[in-house]
Amino acid sequence: MNFINELDFARQLDQKDPLRSFRDRFYIPQRNGQPLRYFCGNSLGLQPKAVRAALDHELSVWQNLAVEGWFDEDEVVRNKPWLTIHERSKPALAHIVGALETEVCAMNNLTVNMHLLLTSFYRPVGKRTRILTIGGDFPSDMYAFETHIRARSLNPDDVLIEVYPRPGHETWQMADLLRSIAQHADSLALVLFSGVHYYTGQVFDMAAVAQAAHDAGALVGFDLAHGVGNVVLQLHHWQVDFAYWCSYKYLNAGPGGVSGIFVHERHHASAAMLPRLAGWWGYDQSQRFAMTKGFVPMPGADGWQVSTPTVLAMAVHDTAVQITAEAGMPALRQKSELLTGYLYFLLGDIIRIITPEDPNLRGCQLSLLIPEQGKTIFDQLTQAGIIGDWREPDCVRLAPAPLYTSFEDVWEVGNTLRRLLARS
Ligand SMILES: *Cc1c(COP(=O)(O)O)cnc(C)c1O
Repeated sequence: MNFINELDFARQLDQKDPLRSFRDRFYIPQRNGQPLRYFCGNSLGLQPKAVRAALDHELSVWQNLAVEGWFDEDEVVRNKPWLTIHERSKPALAHIVGALETEVCAMNNLTVNMHLLLTSFYRPVGKRTRILTIGGDFPSDMYAFETHIRARSLNPDDVLIEVYPRPGHETWQMADLLRSIAQHADSLALVLFSGVHYYTGQVFDMAAVAQAAHDAGALVGFDLAHGVGNVVLQLHHWQVDFAYWCSYKYLNAGPGGVSGIFVHERHHASAAMLPRLAGWWGYDQSQRFAMTKGFVPMPGADGWQVSTPTVLAMAVHDTAVQITAEAGMPALRQKSELLTGYLYFLLGDIIRIITPEDPNLRGCQLSLLIPEQGKTIFDQLTQAGIIGDWREPDCVRLAPAPLYTSFEDVWEVGNTLRRLLARS
């Protein structure tokens, strides 16, 4: 598309946008009666209007049925009882990550799930003990690796291989990653990193990584905190062994919202034999209340559940992910490429953008490097009603989320930045 830097042009794109009605399904935060321009869905997605009713509904089930809420289908909405609440979001999650319903389950929070899945899928044996990841991934993932490896009585310095971008570069060459995986083929147990990098917004070719990892005799997993609801995923088809994500970024399921996991069908038959940290909520549902010894997992991803689900958070989660599934990932992605493409067009010639320009190598987020006056400019953006996020020492991240960000919002941020930079 030939973009034009004009407000009217942006408004025309909004009028032609087949997903434009989705914006009305979210609360756009306001200041002094004016809607803010929200570019922070990479950190916390906006509140879907429907979640209040969903929460209210579970509160009334609690109020009226109390403990029976676990077992009784409630007669008004015909929702599944809380006992099977994890099933409500399966169709939506399966669509969003490209999986079978048996391969996905909503549970816990992201880092907790990372530990649970590392327990099952990081299996160092003999010389094959190493984990390959990217250098400079999200800190929580780093702490999880470090402590998880120590918990196996191994040394992270020996075991963890961190692949960094080439000197002078912010983003990775796929060829470097694939070469590293092949080079360590004799010692690799696992390849695991973010499918979409939180800082640069770079999207990795997950299918190629999965293929390379398997060729090297290793298992492969992805952290999809920044991938889920952002880019089209085909986890089943790509033969990814496992994955996990959070729901409070692009899935809009609220601060600290429920995480989700993916475990490829190929591991389901042998699931009972896998090492794991189990709890009663992952126990074979039909026998759970027999309360007998000897863990028997539920089939598929559900068997990784540990504790009683947080029903109120699940109600918000299920309502939120439904919206993404309803818009559909292909349509969302189509809009996203245009929306972020427009932002790139507006900023590319005035600011250094470290996110790759090629839409295949990025999601919706652009990471801008503004040396020296970066923090000042960021604060001025905030004062102008534009909400992005700031990463020390010089990075402003802007994420136009296609469910609720408009082309007009994008035009506005482009022109405000232009003005602020010209002044500074
Ligand atoms: C947001 C994010 C997290 C956050 O983990 P929580 O357990 O939800 O606090 C972890 N890893 C990555 C890559 C993230 O982007």
